[in-house]
Formats: sequence, C-alpha cells, structure tokens
Amino acid sequence: MDLRYSESEEAFRAGLRSWLAEVVPTLGPKPSNLDWLGRRAYDTTWQRMLFDAGYAGIDWPVEGGGRGASPVEQLVYLEELERAHAPYVGVNFVGLLHAGPTVIVEGTPEQRARFLPPILRGEEVWCQGFSEPGAGSDLASLRTRAERDGDEYVVTGQKIWTSHAEVADFCELLVRTGSEDSRHRGITWLALPMDRPGIDFRPLRTIAGSTEFGELFLDGVRVPVANRIGDENDGWRVTMTTLSFERGTAFVGEVLQSMELLRGLRSMARSTGEWHEAEVRRRVGHLGAELDALWALARRNVSQAARTGVPGIGGSVYKLALSELRQRIAELAMELVGPAGLVFGDLPGARGLAGADGADGARIPGNAEIVHTWVHSFSRTIAAGTSQIQRNIIAERILGLPKG
Ligand SMILES: Cc1cc2nc3c(=O)[nH]c(=O)nc-3n(C[C@H](O)[C@H](O)[C@H](O)COP(=O)(O)OP(=O)(O)OC[C@H]3O[C@@H](n4cnc5c(N)ncnc54)[C@H](O)[C@@H]3O)c2cc1C
Repeated sequence: MDLRYSESEEAFRAGLRSWLAEVVPTLGPKPSNLDWLGRRAYDTTWQRMLFDAGYAGIDWPVEGGGRGASPVEQLVYLEELERAHAPYVGVNFVGLLHAGPTVIVEGTPEQRARFLPPILRGEEVWCQGFSEPGAGSDLASLRTRAERDGDEYVVTGQKIWTSHAEVADFCELLVRTGSEDSRHRGITWLALPMDRPGIDFRPLRTIAGSTEFGELFLDGVRVPVANRIGDENDGWRVTMTTLSFERGTAFVGEVLQSMELLRGLRSMARSTGEWHEAEVRRRVGHLGAELDALWALARRNVSQAARTGVPGIGGSVYKLALSELRQRIAELAMELVGPAGLVFGDLPGARGLAGADGADGARIPGNAEIVHTWVHSFSRTIAAGTSQIQRNIIAERILGLPKG
C-alpha cells in the first residue's frame, strides 16, 4: 500500500492552498448568530467564490455539476480549508451536504438540472423539515398531511427544530401521503418552495441566544408534484439516503475542526502552566488518539460514498462517536478556561486568548468560542438523531441484535 500523496493530489493541494491564502484574508468578519440574513449573505458569497474558483461541490459527481474529486482530494480539500481557517458551509449545510446529494441519487434528470446548480452557486439555501412535535426519534409517526390535487400536493401540518428555515428557499419536507397508520409505508419526500402562501415560521431561541431554528407551520401549502423526489409513499427509502449523508459524511470536516481546537487547548495549557499536570496531558492525549481514530473512520465513510454513491450504515457509528467526543473536548476546554467560562463574551485577561497564537503555532481559542462550543456540544447528541437512536441502529442493523 502506498500511503504517499500522488503528484496530482499534491498539485491539487498546492493550488487550493495558494487560492485560499489569497482569498480568505479578504473576507470580512462573520456576522453574529442573531443576524441570519447577514449570515446567509456571508455564507452564500463564500459558496459563490468557491464555485467561481472550481471548488464547489468537491464531493459531488461531475454529472451533478460538482468537481467529482477523488476521496483523497476531498480529504485534502477539508484539511486545507481548516488549515486556512476558511468559513464552514454554514447555512448551505442542508443543500450541499444532504439535500443536494439526495437529489443526485434519487432525483430525475429534470430535478437535478433544476435543484443542483443553484445550490452550488450559492443562490438557493435549503432547510430540513423532518421533525414534528410528536415525531422526532420516531420519525415514521409524522403527521404533516399532503393531499393530491391535480398537479399539486396541498400540505398542512407542523414541523419543528427546522434549522435555517428563516433564510431558506427550499425545504426537504417529509409528508404523510398514506393512511394515518401507514408509518414508513405512507411517507413522501418533497422539495417545498419556502415562498409559497400558507407558510409561517416562528423562530425558537437556543440556550446560546441564537435563533438558528424554529417552528414551521404549513396551512394548505401547494407544492408541485414535479417537486416530489422518489415515488409517492416511497419517501422513507429516500429519507434513509438523506440520513446516510447527514450522519456519514456531512460532519466529516468537524473532526478537523476538533483537532484544531484540541491543538489550541494544548497550547493554552502550556501557556498557563497546566500542561505540567499529568492528568491534563493524559486527557489531551486520549482525546487526540480518539480524534485520529475518528479521522480514519471519516476517510472510510468518504471512500465508501465515492465508491457506492451513498455512505453506508456505519455513519451511525461515526455520528455517535463524534458528537460524544465533541462534548468531552468542550468539557476539557471549560475546565481549562476556569471561571471565565461563566460568561459568554471574551473577557480581558481571561485564559482563552481570542485568535492568539501559542508558542507551538496553534491558534488559542477565545473565551467566547470555548463557551459557545461547550453550550453547542449538548445539541450534538440530539441533532441528526440522538445518541440513543444511533445506539439502537448500531445494535439492530450492524450487530444484528434483537429489537429492544
Ligand atoms: C441543534 C438542532 C438542530 C436540529 N435541526 C433540525 C432540522 O433542521 N430539521 C429537523 O427536522 N430536525 C432538526 N432537529 C431535531 C432533531 O432531529 C430531533 O430533536 C431528534 O431527532 C430527537 O427528537 P425529539 O427532539 O423529538 O426527541 P424525542 O424523540 O422525544 O426523544 C426524547 C428522548 O428519548 C430518547 N428516545 C426516544 N426514543 C427512543 C428509543 N426508541 N430508544 C431509546 N431512547 C429513545 C431520545 O434519545 C431522547 O433522549 C434539530 C435538533 C437540534 C438539537
């Protein structure tokens, strides 16, 4: 096995690195998480810059308008973006990382031509309308109803926790088209245009003060049948494709972000003298080793997706391990930052030094960043399916244990 990068992979890395070095410093500061219109403009402008430079949809096949990069190039791409502190996908998360990939696999040629290019160009943002007040973990019990009326479905119901719906143009929406008790057999996957009459969005505030998600009320909303991805009542199968992308590959970049955070924490501990404590060194070492293992798993998921078109069921192992590990890294960060962790902002003289470089060149995270990461880490084991649900999937579908 040759573990070295090939000449063309090294050339890809060099080209990307020099482009990032040129453009990242020209970006202004990211708008606050209270200004979602500003965030949308920031994230979609960055997406457009990636598109113009030929780096949009790096993992999308060429037929889908993407770059069709090899698995190694996809990983190099993520490494270089993290190294350059380039923006993450932000509000483009759903469109780029699971709605678009679902349309690539399940959509018709007309649907691919309609929906994919605007995602890649940063012109259309997507959100995800799966969860309902009575259907989270038990998604198959969803009740939002769609009745066929000629060339349209008329949709009525309620969704909840719909991230970025406030700034979205489309929603990957799950509706019930079968009988009330049809469960998995009566669900349909629709691309809902968010500008239709009858849609009411009410933001919900998170513990971090942000309104990144909210409730979506749908009252007689008309959706063209042409926007149905897959067959009527076959939406559960399409949903499994969406979830395999969401759990298997969408969070791959976060391993690298976590590695960067851990490097910054090590640097912070060195500057405060806590590095002399064996317990701190032991914890940093363990967390680092777990991240290395997770990166190996991420590489496996990416190469599986490139080989078969869809990441496998192993995405549940990855999602479970990453979200729980993020929480333990964030806990260590809070312990290192000490009493300054009691406030959300950056404190003068606090241990976290926003943007400072440690002696070993790592970027020391600021106090605000640490507190935000810690608070946010709680939602990680809930979003995209809770840890308990991932454990059930692993037990039943990977290990073959009997249903609980
Ligand atoms: C930050 C964030 C963003 C989100 N964004 C979106 C979004 O954009 N779109 C969207 O559709 N949804 C979104 N969600 C919703 C998310 O998918 C649900 O919260 C999640 O699936 C859990 O559903 P629930 O909240 O209804 O909890 P419940 O399903 O009511 O679960 C409550 C508790 O019971 C446990 N439990 C339930 N069933 C079982 C079981 N069979 N075995 C063992 N334990 C079980 C759960 O693990 C959990 O601990 C988001 C959530 C968060 C936190």
